[in-house]
Amino acid sequence: MNCYHPAETWSREEIEKAQTMRLKHSVQAALASPFYSRRFSSLGITAETIKSSESIRDIPFTTKNDLRSGYPFDFLAVPKEDLVRLHASSGTTGSPVTICHTRADLNAWADLMARCMHMVGVRKSDIFQNIAGYGLFTGGLGIHAGAERLGCLTIPAGAGNTRRQIKLIQDMQVSVLHIIPSYALYLGGVVRDMGLDPRELPPRIALIGAEPHTEEARQRIELLLGLKAYNSYGLSEMNGPGVAFECLGQNGMHVWEDAYILEIINPKTLEPVPDGEVGELVLTTLCRRGMPVLRYRTSDLTRVIPEPCPCGRVHRRIDRIMGRADDMLIIKGCNFYPMQVEQILLSFPEVGQNYLILLELEGDMDQVCVQVEIREEYFVEDVRALTKLQKRIAHRLRDEILFTPKVELVQANTLPKQEGKAVRVVDRRNKGQ
Ligand code: AMP
Ligand code: ZN
Repeated sequence: MNCYHPAETWSREEIEKAQTMRLKHSVQAALASPFYSRRFSSLGITAETIKSSESIRDIPFTTKNDLRSGYPFDFLAVPKEDLVRLHASSGTTGSPVTICHTRADLNAWADLMARCMHMVGVRKSDIFQNIAGYGLFTGGLGIHAGAERLGCLTIPAGAGNTRRQIKLIQDMQVSVLHIIPSYALYLGGVVRDMGLDPRELPPRIALIGAEPHTEEARQRIELLLGLKAYNSYGLSEMNGPGVAFECLGQNGMHVWEDAYILEIINPKTLEPVPDGEVGELVLTTLCRRGMPVLRYRTSDLTRVIPEPCPCGRVHRRIDRIMGRADDMLIIKGCNFYPMQVEQILLSFPEVGQNYLILLELEGDMDQVCVQVEIREEYFVEDVRALTKLQKRIAHRLRDEILFTPKVELVQANTLPKQEGKAVRVVDRRNKGQ
């Protein structure tokens, strides 16, 4: 194994030993914050009460609401003058959640990110284009720092302006991209429309993440852009990208357990679930000093992949994120996640790169309308062929989500697209439209 950091090859015992020691330090550091000092003093939690990584179960969970109510400074564990950066999570409702970093925190984060990129073959000699929004979103500066840490020539291209992105890729002979999956699909569509051969496009690797996407989406991105795409998972509350990342095996993401403690719980009972079972991901920072966050309930649903990874790393792998607990839709008594719809849609070669799930009211009844872009060459087919396709899509969706949604075929590039994370579901039920 060609590793960036020695911790990648640690044994389980070494990881657990480091976790216990680092958890003690993290609790000690957290006690300096107003939030955790209040919370821990009533429970008698101190660094001394941490005997092993298992002791984490004595610590209460931290929720998004805790972070919101602690906005802006209740979680800070160091004086403000020791902080050098602030990021925020992308939530659109309520108070924002902000995360502050010391210089050492940023340094550790850049190292984790560099480790992820190195794992999939990114090297100093690579030219790296970061097609992600800079600003408060961690996919900009967070990934940027990792690429520079590795020594790549790093292009902070930012989001949007697709033609300029493609020109940069070609002119600079860019070999590695970071790009949000929904935008990668769109960019791939533009590449195809421009008549470019994906096999002749310079990039060989894309890091894709920041939003849920299916294996079907990954395969499409690989095909459209002629490269290998690796799943990158993170959240601002835990720094951002660099928490978990796929290795060359492309089968689940290794969580860097020397930097985070990983738990999967049943979101109703809050008890741990056995490895292999889907539940809510809970994460604890082990190395962050500006703003430690302990047992954070991410809302993200996944499972630990119990089998050992052929790559040899023993840092446990989590499966592709199914979605957030609050993404689940309940329509006509059936529960489903938007990703189940994506999985079906993108398995049709006729389907283009974008879709939208509309929730509507028909009388008193909830109705789902799936609008799906059809590739130009199929859209010009006769009405009979299109009606047949529409029915096939509706049937396949019914098999997956157990009721038949309305399916509307629309022309390529007509659905709204975002510069950042895609909006896959629009709820029109309250507006009476
Ligand atoms: P933010 O901190 O605002 O960038 O949002 C973090 C959230 O984005 C996570 O909690 C996940 O819900 C989602 N997310 C990030 N990376 C991935 C990924 N690779 N797959 C699925 N969802 C992701
Ligand atoms: Zn692996």
